[in-house]
Amino acid sequence: MYIPFVDLKTQYNQIKDEINKAIIEVIESTSFILGKPVQEFELEFAKAHNVKHCIGLSSGTDGNHISLWALDIKSGDEVIIPANTFIATAWGATLCGAKPVFVDCDPESYNIDPERVESAITSKTKAIVAVHLYGQPADMDRLEEIARHYNVYLVEDAAQAHLAEYKGKRVGGLGIAASFSFYPGKNLGAYGEAGCVTTNSDDLAEKFRMIRDHGSVRKYNHVLLGHNYRMESIQGAVLKVKLKYLEIWTKRRREVANKYRELLYDLHNLEIIKLPKEMWYAKHVYHLFVIQINLKPEKRQEIRDNLRKFLGENGIETGLHYPIPLHLQPCFKSLGYKKGDFPVAEQLAEGGLSLPIYPELTDDKIEYVSQKIHEFFKKKC
Ligand SMILES: *Cc1c(COP(=O)(O)O)cnc(C)c1O
Repeated sequence: MYIPFVDLKTQYNQIKDEINKAIIEVIESTSFILGKPVQEFELEFAKAHNVKHCIGLSSGTDGNHISLWALDIKSGDEVIIPANTFIATAWGATLCGAKPVFVDCDPESYNIDPERVESAITSKTKAIVAVHLYGQPADMDRLEEIARHYNVYLVEDAAQAHLAEYKGKRVGGLGIAASFSFYPGKNLGAYGEAGCVTTNSDDLAEKFRMIRDHGSVRKYNHVLLGHNYRMESIQGAVLKVKLKYLEIWTKRRREVANKYRELLYDLHNLEIIKLPKEMWYAKHVYHLFVIQINLKPEKRQEIRDNLRKFLGENGIETGLHYPIPLHLQPCFKSLGYKKGDFPVAEQLAEGGLSLPIYPELTDDKIEYVSQKIHEFFKKKC
């Protein structure tokens, strides 16, 4: 049996005719940037998230940047960011010239810990970026309360959380702005690089549209400083086709997660591993299913690495999200953080293991993964 960590080919085969047709149409039109496919996708994606505006971009990283840029975040400002996320979350702040200030995550949700956010706020803080990590929304009400009290912006990084819900509300309109990624492996993936920002603010939406297109409303009339962050038409066309299936795919991701949970519960109960927890306020969309080694803290990383190796030898690919927390990344050395600063994020880096999860994963494969995990721990303990 071979179980890849992501399987884009099976999905493509299911929708091949529609995708090929949509791509050929763009080529025939010879209109390759923005245009009708992107516009149509923007409208449908906004509708799916109950948010007023969606602005198609060239990547999720650009979404992280543009959301803070349009809010005038600049040099001298501080932006609060969870220590456990993909590096792109922090590029948003650094590309604006601002200083990222890292905060540890909560041991249950793995999302930014609101209590710790509060103690990280200074007179220079301008924004909090809430990442909906692994597909589970952060505790937005608590964060919103803090943001309002200190008069700072609350921005969402929803790169992993398409269609996820917080207290029954879809992500994307829960803060002042939200960025999404359509990197091919994400829950909604393009056939190349793509992303977007969403907002309920008309003014901000207009600013996003200008910044993504060289700061212009009309060609060669540059009102604002900007960049080229436009989405390609082919990506818009592919995403529009795939968006129709996203509800069904998300439902299946949740089924896969439940099946893993059921099959691995005994190991969780014996405190050998820790299963991901779905918070009472969240509808998790399981971009990732991250289990944590819960045995012997001093040997956690060694056990995790051995389990990963064992699964690999049995044809099961796994992932690490993320093996080095942001505060320990060499590129942020000058910020002066050290090991031990954010114990929860560090524990997750040492003991976390992402199992394969995607809508096309069949029950027999989930059973095989679980069986091999049991086999490993039977031998070890
Ligand atoms: C994938 C991801 C991004 C970046 O998106 P790209 O489209 O790859 O640029 C940003 N933040 C998080 C949390 C991500 O997972």
